[in-house]
Amino acid sequence: MNASAQIGVTGLAVMGRNLARNFARNGYTVALHNRTASRTHDLVKEFGHEGDFVSTETAEDFVAALERPRRLMIMVKAGEPTDAVIEEFAPLLEPGDMIIDGGNAHFADTRRRERRLREQGIHFVGTGVSGGEEGALHGPSIMPGGSKESYGSLGPMLEKISAKAKDGAPCVTHVGPDGAGHFVKMVHNGIEYADMQLIGEAYQLLRDVAGYSPAEIAEIFRTWNTGRLDSYLIEITAEVLSHVDAATGKPFVDVVQDQAEQKGTGRWTVQIALDLGVPVSGIAEAVFARSLSGHTALREASRHLAGPKATPLGKAEAGAFADRVEQALYASKIVSYTQGFHEIATGSEEYDWTIDLGKVASIWRAGCIIRAAFLDRIRAAYDARPDLPSLLSDETFAQEIAAAQDDWREVLAAATRQGVPTPGFSAALAYYDALRAERLPAALTQAQRDFFGAHTYRRTDRPGSFHTLWGGDR
Ligand code: NAP
Repeated sequence: MNASAQIGVTGLAVMGRNLARNFARNGYTVALHNRTASRTHDLVKEFGHEGDFVSTETAEDFVAALERPRRLMIMVKAGEPTDAVIEEFAPLLEPGDMIIDGGNAHFADTRRRERRLREQGIHFVGTGVSGGEEGALHGPSIMPGGSKESYGSLGPMLEKISAKAKDGAPCVTHVGPDGAGHFVKMVHNGIEYADMQLIGEAYQLLRDVAGYSPAEIAEIFRTWNTGRLDSYLIEITAEVLSHVDAATGKPFVDVVQDQAEQKGTGRWTVQIALDLGVPVSGIAEAVFARSLSGHTALREASRHLAGPKATPLGKAEAGAFADRVEQALYASKIVSYTQGFHEIATGSEEYDWTIDLGKVASIWRAGCIIRAAFLDRIRAAYDARPDLPSLLSDETFAQEIAAAQDDWREVLAAATRQGVPTPGFSAALAYYDALRAERLPAALTQAQRDFFGAHTYRRTDRPGSFHTLWGGDR
């Protein structure tokens, strides 16, 4: 076997297959491998004309097809299959070779795998890839971790196949060592959950409070997409809402069961945030909203519970309400990115990754699911002040929220009056109000803890730790 391939991809389902094609279309020779060989043959049969592919069936032939140092990309189902594939290939590799895992691995698994392969001199590059199958083919946002040295060899190739932001910058950077790339991809997905939940709430409010039809709401979203909310998710929401079901003639959104599924990265974002002590309440509400939607029996049993008398607004007031919802959506979105970036900053500190938050915002500007014009401004905020304690400390964002807050509160008041659930909008506003509060009821909580558990408290007027001898015979 002639060792001519600059990269090899094993795992040729939708993502692997399209990434392999993307590498080939960009002029690289790509070795192909898949557990079930027919996938490899199908790819070559269908797309062989797009570039230079080397089709292999055995692990030995696949490795032999790669030029040295070898770059071997794994695109298999995350979890045990990734370990199985690593165990299959690692014995065939040499020091200096690279294994790139582009699956949605948990960053703790990536840290474990990186440690284990480092002992063998192999660079393990846990890499977040976002953009779905279309992104994989036309240019994803890529978040590689692993060693700096591996990025030196791999970076130029990833830059070539990645999405490009409007200013031409490739949407890839060396995020940081070991699991940093997968950690950032995890939080990206958490923010994606929050964005989708907030958009869902905006839709429901426009429908139930303002009385708009899905087609009318699609138009509103189209208008929003020309302003500061300009983003992929707003764009596809307009598409989905204007889609009519061919079989019934009904709005498509009305024939889809209202149960949202999840694969796990949103849940991980919240679990890790709990471990790190970072309040990501907006992302958590988005994850819980999906799980609540799936509790069909509980929902059925609760349908009789009392609610307010809902009276949709008249046409005259609906337009002004839609403008308010735009303000509420934008302000809530700022909060969910604030929370996500806080989690990345905390993870970076905990694991010594020195992640550049401005660069993270920069590589999310194109290719990925949360791509949005707004990210350019987050990048600018962190570039201007890399030690920004929170996005809300940025003057521009703070001013925008200040301008939006009256409408934001009005929207939530209307939602509460009409009984429309808005966990994302509400959590975002509560987070904002808690951060700006002079005093929090945490003082009372701590006093209660001292009362029943002698947990002590600190005082506002002098240093030290105190315990009060509470009366009574407990
Ligand atoms: P997938 O359905 O997650 O996985 C299918 C691939 O994994 C097939 O090539 C399959 O081989 C292989 N595989 C499964 N178990 C294996 C094992 N024990 N040993 C060897 N190979 C095994 O495929 P996908 O949707 O293309 O995703 C690939 C990875 O990218 C996943 O980790 C996913 O989380 C991640 N990802 C997906 C998306 C997306 O939009 N789909 C976006 C970003 C990241 P066979 O053909 O032999 O069954």
